[in-house]
Amino acid sequence: MTKQKITDAGALAQAALDARENAYAPYSHYTVGAALLTEEGEVFTGCNIENASYGAANCGERTAFFKAISQGRRRFQAIAIAGGMEGEEPKDYAYPCGICRQVMREFCDDGFQVIVVKSVEDRRQYRLDEILPFGFGGESIR
Ligand code: ZN
Repeated sequence: MTKQKITDAGALAQAALDARENAYAPYSHYTVGAALLTEEGEVFTGCNIENASYGAANCGERTAFFKAISQGRRRFQAIAIAGGMEGEEPKDYAYPCGICRQVMREFCDDGFQVIVVKSVEDRRQYRLDEILPFGFGGESIR
């Protein structure tokens, strides 16, 4: 966990690229790194963690979220995500899967920023409600 305030999306992108190095992906060889920025300016990183029992795998985005949530954080500004084949630079943007979008929806408001990263310079940024419109949330069942 990095403690300093990151206001620069490029720095968050670099943290995601760095986190990719720790991915455990011996089956797909597709490695993902994520860097989650809290409202307070802390960064929690995550990587994908596969398993011989495929369903036990966890995505990089959710690893970052679960680390932060388990440390008591609940408010978030942005997440940067980088993914690609092991040992290669990302060839394309790695968009979060549906399950990860739903986890974001649980803890983030519509304006939460999702940054997909090919490199520090080459990235795209979206609001959560752009990539998960008409999302289902806790307000529906309260
Ligand atoms: Zn996912």
